[in-house]
Amino acid sequence: MTSLARHKKAKALKPSSPRPAKELCSECGLCDTYYVHYVKEACAFLNQQIAELEQQSHSRSRNLDNPDELYFGVQQEMMAARKKEPIPGAQWTGIVSSIAIEMLNRGIVEGVVCVQNTKEDRFQPMPVIARTPEEILAAKVNKPTLSPNLSVLEQVEKSGMKRLLVIGVGCQIQALRAVEKQLGLEKLYVLGTPCVDNVTRAGLQKFLETTSKSPDTVVHYEFMQDFRVHFKHEDGSTETVPFFGLKTNQLKDVFAPSCMSCFDYVNSLADIVVGYMGAPFGWQWIVVRNERGQEMLDVVKDQIDTQAVMSQGNRQAAVQQSIPAYDQGVTLPMWAAKLMGVVIERIGPKGLEYARFSIDSHFTRNYLYTKRNYPEKLEKHVPEFAKRIVGQYKLPE
Ligand code: FAD
Ligand code: SF4
Repeated sequence: MTSLARHKKAKALKPSSPRPAKELCSECGLCDTYYVHYVKEACAFLNQQIAELEQQSHSRSRNLDNPDELYFGVQQEMMAARKKEPIPGAQWTGIVSSIAIEMLNRGIVEGVVCVQNTKEDRFQPMPVIARTPEEILAAKVNKPTLSPNLSVLEQVEKSGMKRLLVIGVGCQIQALRAVEKQLGLEKLYVLGTPCVDNVTRAGLQKFLETTSKSPDTVVHYEFMQDFRVHFKHEDGSTETVPFFGLKTNQLKDVFAPSCMSCFDYVNSLADIVVGYMGAPFGWQWIVVRNERGQEMLDVVKDQIDTQAVMSQGNRQAAVQQSIPAYDQGVTLPMWAAKLMGVVIERIGPKGLEYARFSIDSHFTRNYLYTKRNYPEKLEKHVPEFAKRIVGQYKLPE
C-alpha cells in the first residue's frame, strides 16, 4: 500500500490546455488530476505497455499461441450470460450495474467509479464515485462518447477509501493500471467493457444525424450481432439500420483519432469484461481474466442465466472484402445494404466468430490509420497480438 504523501504529484492540466497525447488523447481524465505527473508512462497513446500490465494485473501476459487468448486476452473462463430480470434502461441486461451494486451492498468495496450523464444532456458523460446503489443505477446505459472517468481519482485518494471498484473502457483502464500503486488502495477491482469507435459529443451528434431518422429522440443505440445498428427512441420504438448502409464516406472522420489507433478493443487489463460481441444475439459476453474477476462474477451468479460460448461461420473472406470497401468509403444503396444484411445474418459469423470478425475489421482499419498518420509510432504502439491478427490480411498501401 502506498501512502498519500509518498507519490509524486503535478499540477492538473486546465480543461482547455493541450494534452500530452495531442490529437490522440481519448480524454480518459488522468490529465485532469495530479496523477498527470505519470502521464508519459501511463497514457495508452504515449506508451503502449499492454503485455507488461497484463503481467502486473493477471500475473502473466496472454499466450499468443492460444487462439482464444490471442483475440480475447488473458482468461480463466468465457461465457454468454443474461440477467434473469434485466434492469430496465440498461445498455443490455444490466450485468455491469448489478455486479457493482452487489459489490457495494456486500461491503466488498466502499465506492464505484462509474459515469452518469449531466442533467441537460443524456449523452454527456459525468464521472462519479458512487456510494449507493441508486448512484450506480443512475450510471446505467452507455454514454457513447469519450468520458474522463479517471478525473475522479484525486477524490478517491482524498476520501481515504481503501477498497474501490472502477468501471471503464480500455484506454481508461490502461492508465489506471499504470498508476494503481499510487492510489493508496488496499484493493482495486476493475470491471471493464469492450469499446470501439467512440466519438466526441459533437461527433456523436453527426453520427446520429447521418444515421437515424430521428436523432433527437435516440436514448440508446448499439451495433448489434445481427449486423445492424439498433436505435431505441424515447417512445420505446426501435429503428434498425444495416451496417452496410452506413454513410461511410460521411462518417469516416467521425470516430476519435484515439479510437482509430486503439488495439485494446477487449479491455485486456480489466479483471472481468462484460460486453456482447462474443455472445449469441440478445445475450451478453463475459470474460473472466483472474481471481478478482471471478469474485465479481460470483456475486451475481444467482441473478444470471449462462450458457457456453459458441462459434459459427468463417469471417475471413468478409473481412478481406471489407478492407478496400471501407478504405474507399463505399456506401451501398439502402436496398442492397438491407439484402446484404439479411444474407450475412443467415450465413455470416456468429458468437466468437462474430467477435473475431469485429476485431479483425477494426484492427486492420486502425493499423492502416496509424501507419498512414503516425508511421513513427507504428512499431511500438501496435501490440504483438494485434500485429499477428492484422498479418492474416492483405492491406492496401
Ligand atoms: P449497464 O448496466 O447499462 O452499465 C453500463 C456501464 O457503462 C455503467 O456502469 C457506466 O458507468 C459505464 N459507461 C457508460 N458509458 C461509458 C463510457 N463512455 N466510458 C466508460 N464507461 C462507460 N461491447 C461489445 O461487446 N462490443 C463493442 O463494440 C462495444 N462498444 C462499446 C463502446 C462504448 C463507448 C461503451 C461504453 C461500451 C461498449 N461495449 C461494447 C459494451 C456494451 O455496450 C455494454 O456496455 C456492456 O455489455 C454492459 O452492458 P450492461 O447492460 O451490463 O451495462
Ligand atoms: Fe492524458 Fe488520458 Fe489524454 Fe493520455 S488519453 S493525454 S493520459 S487525458
